[in-house]
Amino acid sequence: MTSQSQTHHKKPPKQPLKSPQKQWSIADFEIGKPLGKGKFGRVYLAREIKSKYIVALKVIFKEQIEKYRLHHQLRREMKIQTSLRHPNVLRLFGWFHDEERIFFILEYAHGGELYKELRKSGHLSERQAATYIASLTQALAYCHEKDVIHRDIKPENLLLDHEGRLKIADFGWSVQSKNKRHTMCGTLDYLAPEMVENKAHDYGVDNWTLGVLCYEFLYGAPPFEAESQKDTFRRIMKVDLNFPDSPLVSADAKNLISQLLVKDSTKRLSLQKIMEHPWIVKNADPTGTCSN
Ligand code: AMP
Repeated sequence: MTSQSQTHHKKPPKQPLKSPQKQWSIADFEIGKPLGKGKFGRVYLAREIKSKYIVALKVIFKEQIEKYRLHHQLRREMKIQTSLRHPNVLRLFGWFHDEERIFFILEYAHGGELYKELRKSGHLSERQAATYIASLTQALAYCHEKDVIHRDIKPENLLLDHEGRLKIADFGWSVQSKNKRHTMCGTLDYLAPEMVENKAHDYGVDNWTLGVLCYEFLYGAPPFEAESQKDTFRRIMKVDLNFPDSPLVSADAKNLISQLLVKDSTKRLSLQKIMEHPWIVKNADPTGTCSN
């Protein structure tokens, strides 16, 4: 399977992959085009031969996992992600391994990275931004209920399905976030003050990140962007928040952002209050699917 045409297949079966206990192997899949490259390996479009179900197969080299001694953590986090069932959380259907590699059988997100969409259009419409923020809020509320904090939400970790529905990927896979925090400066932009300061943190960090994302969706760049990591750090700590004149953004949207980017994590708007905020109520598409 190599062509794009496979992606326009007839509706896939609702239940893709038989029993979760089934022992999968690479022989169960036809491998298609590469979808992307991550820190530890590549992601391919694939089709489960029996059900014809289209998935994304993530291939991770064991050598990498051993090198960073991430084995136990990886196993634990894989268990968490397989148990999460929410329309805005990318499903992990299962995994298997051979001598050299670990394979993740993931829900295929046909629309790819939200990040690319954002870069392509510069910034999103209020309707689109509010729909994504509402989807994220609902997914986070579900995860918080299950005692899972993501801590690494950023546009690169947000994928879109064929209907434009947002999917949080790498959910709770702290392995990856740890590594990225270690090696990438860009990540700092999305971190709450208590996290950049390495203080104890709780669910409130995700609420802060929602404020950062909401700003970035509407303005095209994160709010505390700066020349250097040190300056970003300073701006986050001061909550140095400015709203440029252009693009034009509604007062309601700015109000929501200002209530999320609050230094004291206990004073940030709760997830429930975000859903009740007039900007969300007025703009978010209740189906979660919105392409403009
Ligand atoms: P990752 O290793 O998770 O960072 O994935 C690398 C890249 O592969 C991502 O940035 C996406 O562009 C693509 N990708 C990962 N997972 C999926 C998926 N489930 N569906 C479609 N594309 C994906």
